[in-house]
Amino acid sequence: MENILDANNASLVLITRNEKPNRQVIDHFLLKEFACRDMSEIVIISYKLLHHLDIARRMYGKPMIITSGYRTVSYNKNIGGHPYSHHLTGNAVDLDIPEDYSLEKSLVTTCMTVFPYCRVMTDYIHVDCR
Ligand SMILES: [Zn+2]
Repeated sequence: MENILDANNASLVLITRNEKPNRQVIDHFLLKEFACRDMSEIVIISYKLLHHLDIARRMYGKPMIITSGYRTVSYNKNIGGHPYSHHLTGNAVDLDIPEDYSLEKSLVTTCMTVFPYCRVMTDYIHVDCR
């Protein structure tokens, strides 16, 4: 299947995940990393998020592991996500916190510098382009 650019919102990319899950969407990030964990076929990623992730990855200079990307409404509900979560619009990702403290500090600093919104949780860092 072809990639579909949502004509109603140029900032969003809608791609069926069955197409090429290993397709690189930007340097260091594959399509499957953004896919909803419920195995749904549609993945929504905003260009704004990709832009910020790209800058953050270059600044950080190390692998960044996405633990949650796009979420469908039902999946978000199941995991107790906020009803208006930015994950629903492809505008947010959660990043794994590295075990190494200096890497953790570096990742947190990077995220706080680059993303319009960043919240450090116990196990992950939520970043979004609200
Ligand atoms: Zn999040």
